[in-house]
Amino acid sequence: MTPPRYSVHAEPLSIKDSAFKLSESTLKDYDCLVLIYTNAETLQQFSIDAVSQLSKINLSFSSECSLIHSNIAPGNRLVLSPTAGLSGDTDDVRLFGEAAGAATRKAIASGANKILIHIVDPPTLQIANGAYRNFAQVALLGCLDVVNSRRNANTKVGIMFKDQKKGEEIIKVVVAIEEGRILARKIGTGCPEEMAPPKFAEAIMEAFKNEKAIKSELIQDYDIMLKEYPLLAAVGRSASKVHRHNSRIVKLEYKSPDQSKVKENLSFIGKGITLDTGGLDIKAGGGMRGMSRDCLGAGSVAALMLTIAKLQPEHINVSAKLAIVRNNTGSEAYSCDEVITSRAGKRVLVGNTDAEGRMVMTDLLCEAKEEALESMKKHSVPHRLFTVATLTGHACIAFGPYSTSLSNGPASADMISHRLAKAGHVWGDPFEISTLRREDFSMVRPGNPESEDVVQANTLPTVRTARGHQYPAAFMIIASGLENHQGKIGYTHCDIAGAAEDEPIKLSLGRVNARPVPALVGAFVIPEGCQ
Ligand SMILES: [Zn+2]
Repeated sequence: MTPPRYSVHAEPLSIKDSAFKLSESTLKDYDCLVLIYTNAETLQQFSIDAVSQLSKINLSFSSECSLIHSNIAPGNRLVLSPTAGLSGDTDDVRLFGEAAGAATRKAIASGANKILIHIVDPPTLQIANGAYRNFAQVALLGCLDVVNSRRNANTKVGIMFKDQKKGEEIIKVVVAIEEGRILARKIGTGCPEEMAPPKFAEAIMEAFKNEKAIKSELIQDYDIMLKEYPLLAAVGRSASKVHRHNSRIVKLEYKSPDQSKVKENLSFIGKGITLDTGGLDIKAGGGMRGMSRDCLGAGSVAALMLTIAKLQPEHINVSAKLAIVRNNTGSEAYSCDEVITSRAGKRVLVGNTDAEGRMVMTDLLCEAKEEALESMKKHSVPHRLFTVATLTGHACIAFGPYSTSLSNGPASADMISHRLAKAGHVWGDPFEISTLRREDFSMVRPGNPESEDVVQANTLPTVRTARGHQYPAAFMIIASGLENHQGKIGYTHCDIAGAAEDEPIKLSLGRVNARPVPALVGAFVIPEGCQ
């Protein structure tokens, strides 16, 4: 797929004496004007003939997106896109993303490719306690999501700002997020042969080739995986005999240019299962459909790192470790009842080969823990570890189309899940807070402590298991040696299975939407106070 070509520009707000008068050059630079508004009455101030005529013949113009002919608009295309009210029980800033997305779809369908956006009555900070403060960012992200999800996209987007400098800053962050999302869409959308582990890893290495702020490393030697990441190697054992399906691990590292300003060290582990057949516990009866999307955790983490490369924040050091494996079946496949010793020295009894996500991430999580412990000997800056994965169907049943996170003791004390929920809310990328409980740990405790230290899974699908999305985190904590809060390291597991792709349309797969990249950026990359 050719990478999309797009540009985003901050334009001066050109409204004079209640008249909407765009300069000659702006009229020339664009071919469509989009007005996003909450209160239809605010449109009256412009005395635009076409708008008053539309309001007379279409009573629903304040609740649906319309395209009309108008002399005041570049290309004579004027798109009106309402957000509806902002104060309903379930309203949130996504209304701006959706209004901008609908308008962009309408504009593009009409033949426009140079779209100028104006948000007519921006929400004030008083509404919903500031929950709409990122309305411009979310509107732009909604627009770009439509623009760059197309093949051969080539679109110019402008947005009018009263404060040009602030507008430039907003655009810088939005474009950095969008660059990450383009990568996530690209690697997440490929067919499982086009994006088999070697190619998936290659696409990521290529994306970071010229990013000087990021150190990247590719591990392709299966013997290294066997020695260093035995649980991952077990899942990749069958694919190790099929050259084009061989496993890969990608590591990316970002260090703040000013270490004296670092407030947090963050490590993200991403699940990149490029096809999940279920392994020997094969996904029968059509359950394998869509399992080429089991790589979106790794896609989101790679996207987050690319956004970080573009923004180069000073207050964080961030590392990423991506487990890129195909869960194949076959004569070499790992099986239930095997006992495999993890990197942390825990004997793992395999219960179900379809529970491969927790397997491929655990040893990388253990390595991140080791690095954190090493660094904590020298620095007092806190370490926070994360796993990001399309891990369970249970998360989709429990929360529908939203990401969820659950934290160990130290991360709970630091309110990390609350931070994600808060950032998700203001960035239009909601996160639900889930909780680890004692039952999650007892679920995976061994029945035979002589032969194993922890059990990987039960034999039922997570959707038929009580606490099906929570207990895998307990497994990862025990098997990675993170139990008992070694060194008070915070760990948060993010299950994005419900969020990372849209609902499938008809018989097709769902569109990869690169969530939860905006929420992760909002929670950890944008310094607090600059949200
Ligand atoms: Zn699976």
